[in-house]
Amino acid sequence: EPIEKCWANNLEANMTKILMYTVRPDERAAIDAWVAANDIQVDTNTVEFGPDTVDLAKGYDGVVIQQHGAIPDEMVYQKLKAFGIKQLTLRITGYDIVNLDAATANGLVVTNVPAYSPRSVSELVLAQVMRLIRHLGEASAREAKDDYSWAGLEAPEIHNLTVGIIGAGKIGSAVARIFRALGATVIVSDPVKRPELADTVSYVDLNTLLTTSDVVTVHTPLDGLTTHLIDADALRKMKPTAYLINAARGPIVDTEALIKALNDHTIAGAALDTIEGEAGIFGEDRSQTLVDNQALETLKAMPNVEISPHIGFYTDAAVKNMIDISLDDVKTILEGGKSAHQVN
Ligand code: NAD
Repeated sequence: EPIEKCWANNLEANMTKILMYTVRPDERAAIDAWVAANDIQVDTNTVEFGPDTVDLAKGYDGVVIQQHGAIPDEMVYQKLKAFGIKQLTLRITGYDIVNLDAATANGLVVTNVPAYSPRSVSELVLAQVMRLIRHLGEASAREAKDDYSWAGLEAPEIHNLTVGIIGAGKIGSAVARIFRALGATVIVSDPVKRPELADTVSYVDLNTLLTTSDVVTVHTPLDGLTTHLIDADALRKMKPTAYLINAARGPIVDTEALIKALNDHTIAGAALDTIEGEAGIFGEDRSQTLVDNQALETLKAMPNVEISPHIGFYTDAAVKNMIDISLDDVKTILEGGKSAHQVN
């Protein structure tokens, strides 16, 4: 894969150089603007970072990545160290893809962009919830067959519903404010209680949240405790009229259990912006190659399931912040400073 070089005028050959992996055309303008304002060269490529592509970083001072495929291999981190690189900066929030132990062992400061725009994901959640409760997926499926009947399309009104948020951090808080503004009752399960949400939500335990919510939306990080947090047991506790939203990380929901719950009408429907096994699928045009993910095939055929290809983050404001915050962090670290976004 060719590396595209980008630097401002009049800079010397020995200037600091950063390599950005997996750059999309829509990120170009923000990168050019940052380069123009900083005496640093930023080169870009379009490949994911990993064992096959780590060698591209040789000769660079800093590395910025953005991907959903995991990077477990210790060798990758050893190579970065051997190249003299001191950091690994993600221009996304979730850093579960990084082997933090291996990064730390090789002296790499790992940073993320903790809040590029909490509104971006929460506004997608709003769109997904409205599509689900208004049965727009079912209506579209009928329209495709010239069936314009109303049976089964009666909807509840959002102000009469209870929205349950599992994990109200940056994104979950933004979700809470949106649904509260629309008049819904908002309840939260989170070990951390935020005083600033006192007028917006009531804190409850997870069991109460699952059994009383009309919409359950998860916004926790992916970790040992939250992997398959939404399993068969949790789904069984939900109301048969309730909807599940996952715009956090795929493995938080046990996909097989979700399919069974949908088939058995244990819950009414679901919206997934992220799904187990999405790496190599979401974000790619796979129309010409077989998509080998049976669960995704099953779910996308269900009219009461909304699938979006991990686009929660993808707004204009968020893209610019991801570029600016990540490159500012690399600059800070290379100049000997400490980033406020270090995660290891
Ligand atoms: P955050 O760290 O600000 O908030 C997470 C919250 O979850 C915290 O309040 C924490 O106390 C709580 N929490 C942790 N474990 C919990 C548990 N077991 N039960 C209940 N609450 C728990 O994180 P954030 O920035 O709000 O991001 C939330 C999620 O959204 C992450 O998984 C992130 O990867 C994902 N995300 C998705 C997209 C997308 O495009 N769909 C974009 C950005 C982030």
